[in-house]
Amino acid sequence: MFKSLKDILNYIKLFQTYLGKRIYLVFIFSLLVALLEGFGILMLLPLLENLDSLGESEESNALSIAIFNFVNYLGLSDSTLSILILISVIFLFKGLFAFCAFAYNGMLMGRLLKGLKAQLFDSYSKMNFSYYTSKDSGHFTNLINEQPIRALNALQQLTIFGGQLINVIALMSLALIMAWEFGLMAVTAGMLMIYLFMALNNYVRNLSRMTANENSNLNNWIIQTLQSYKYLSATNQIKSLRKNVIHSIKKLTGFQVKTTIAAGFTQSVREPIAVIFIMLIIYIQIYIFNGKIEPIFVAIILFYRALTAALQVQSFFQGTYQYIGSMELINKEFKNLNLNRIEDGENDINELKKMITLQNISFSYDSSDDYQLKDISLNIPALSSVAFVGESGSGKSTILDVITLLNEPNLGNLIIDDLDSRSIKKESWRQMIGYVSQETIIFDATIGDNISMWSGDYKKNKEIESKIKEAAEKANILDFINNLPDGLDTNVGDRGVLLSGGQRQRLFIARELYKNPLVLILDEATSALDTSSERAIQQSIESLKGYITVIQVAHRLSTIKNVDLIYVLKNGKLIEKGTYKDLTKDQDSNFSKMIELQSLSDS
Ligand code: ADP
Ligand code: MG
Repeated sequence: MFKSLKDILNYIKLFQTYLGKRIYLVFIFSLLVALLEGFGILMLLPLLENLDSLGESEESNALSIAIFNFVNYLGLSDSTLSILILISVIFLFKGLFAFCAFAYNGMLMGRLLKGLKAQLFDSYSKMNFSYYTSKDSGHFTNLINEQPIRALNALQQLTIFGGQLINVIALMSLALIMAWEFGLMAVTAGMLMIYLFMALNNYVRNLSRMTANENSNLNNWIIQTLQSYKYLSATNQIKSLRKNVIHSIKKLTGFQVKTTIAAGFTQSVREPIAVIFIMLIIYIQIYIFNGKIEPIFVAIILFYRALTAALQVQSFFQGTYQYIGSMELINKEFKNLNLNRIEDGENDINELKKMITLQNISFSYDSSDDYQLKDISLNIPALSSVAFVGESGSGKSTILDVITLLNEPNLGNLIIDDLDSRSIKKESWRQMIGYVSQETIIFDATIGDNISMWSGDYKKNKEIESKIKEAAEKANILDFINNLPDGLDTNVGDRGVLLSGGQRQRLFIARELYKNPLVLILDEATSALDTSSERAIQQSIESLKGYITVIQVAHRLSTIKNVDLIYVLKNGKLIEKGTYKDLTKDQDSNFSKMIELQSLSDS
C-alpha cells in the first residue's frame, strides 16, 4: 500500500519534470470540487433534523451545530425551499469546478504531448552514432509515435486518481466528524477494499510494460517488411517475415485482452462489494452499538460517496499502472539519450586551410579490442584529392565516418587544421561537408527539393532553380530531369523507388554538389553507374580540383588515376600509399594486383 503510494508520488514527480508545478492546479480544482460536494451533503442535515430540537439532542456534535449556526446566520432556518436552492447552487458550482479540472487536464495533456514528441525528436537529432546503430527503427518510431499517447493516458488517469483521492479524504473526514465510530469503520472498509485490488494493479502494470516493448518489436518488423518490400515479394519471402509479425501481433492481442478483462473484473465487483460493506456497517451501527439510524443518515450519504470515490481511486490507480509503462519507457529513453548525446567541442571551424591528419587512429564499433581501424596515420592536405581503396570490409567507409566525426576514435587523434577534433563544434565542420554515402539517400519529395533540401522555394526563386540545374548538370542528370514531363517537380516516391539505381546515385551527387561543400566525400558514389555516366561525373569532380578537398572511395580503380594521393587499406590497416604512378611502378604492390584483377574482370 505505502509502496504504491510512493510509486504514485514518483509518477507525479515524473510528470512534474515535464509539466512543472502547474500539474498541481488540477488537484486544487479537485479539492474545491470535493469540499463543495461535502458541504452540499452536509446541507441535508438541516432538512432532516428538527431545528428546534438542536442542542437538546445528545447526538449533536460540533459539526452539525456549526451547520445549523451557518444556516441560521444566512437566515434560512425557516425556509426549506431556500435550503433546497442553496444545495442546488452548491452543486452547480461543484460542476463548474469539475469542468475546470477536466479542461485544465486537457490542456496539460496537450502540453505534454507536444513536449514529449518535440523533445524526443530533438534528442534523437543529437544522439551519438553508436546509440543510433544500437537501436532499430521500430524502437524510434514507437517512442515518438505511440508511447507519448499512452503516456498522456497515464497522466489523465493519474490526475483523476489524485482528484478522487482528495475527494475520498475530504468526504471521509466529514463523515468521521459527523459520526466517528461509523466513520472509522468506513475508513477501515475502504482501506481493506483498496488492498484487495492491489495485486491486480501489479498485474496490470506488468502487462503495460510488456505491451510497450512488444509494440516496439512489432513496429520494427513492419518497417523492415516495408523497406525490403520489393525484394521480399520478388522472392516470395514476405511469408517468412509474416511469422514474426503475426507472433508479435498475437502477443500484443493477448496483453490487450488480459488488460481489458482485469479492468472489467474490477468494474463489476466494485459496486456489490461497496453495498455489502455499507449494509454490514449499518448492521453494526444498529445492532451492536444500538445506535439510531437517523443521526447517521447524512454520514451514510457522505460515506457512500466516499466509498464510490475510493473505488474510483482504485480504478484510476489501475489505469495509471496500465499506461505508466509508456511514460517510464520515454523517461528511460531521455536518460539514455542524455548519456549518449554527441559530445561537442567549442571551436567553430569554417575553412580547411592546412590539412586533415589522422594520428595513430584505432576504432572499434563495439568498443572491444577487435578494431575495425588499426593504428592509422595519414594526411589529407587541404584542396587535394585523395582516394581510399581496398577490398570490401577493409574499413574505407569507417574511415570516412571518422572524418565526418560520426565515429569517435578509441585511440589516437584526428587533427583538423591544428585543432583536435574533440574540440571542434561538430555542426560547423559538418556544415562544410558534402557526403555521397554508400547507401543512397533520397527523400519522398520532388527532384528539386531533393537537390536543394528545401533551402528555398525553387519554383519562385529563379536563382535557386538555376543553382539546382547547375548541380544537376554536373551530376550528369539534367538531361534526364528535363525529359520528365514535370521536370524538377517530379515526385520520386518513398526512398526514390520511382528512379533507377543509377538515377538515384546521380540525384544524390547533385544534392551534395548543390551544397557547394569545401570538403566533398564520395563513398563508391558511382558504383551503380554505366561507364560513360561515371566518366562525366568524374570529370565534374576533377574540375573541382584545387578549389575544394575531395576524398573518395573508388569502386573502379581507373577513375582515380588523377588523384593526388591513394591510400590502400587492408583489414583495417594502412598498407600502401602514393600516387597512381608510384603504386603501379611496383609490380608486386597490393595496388598493382588489385588493378590486374579488375582489368581481368572488366575485359
Ligand atoms: P568498407 O567500406 O571498406 O567496405 P567498412 O568500413 O564498411 O568497410 O567496414 C569495415 C568493418 O567494420 C567490416 O568488418 C564491417 O563488418 C564492420 N562494420 C561496418 N559498419 C559496422 C557497424 N555499424 N557496426 C559494426 N561493425 C561494422
Ligand atoms: Mg564501404
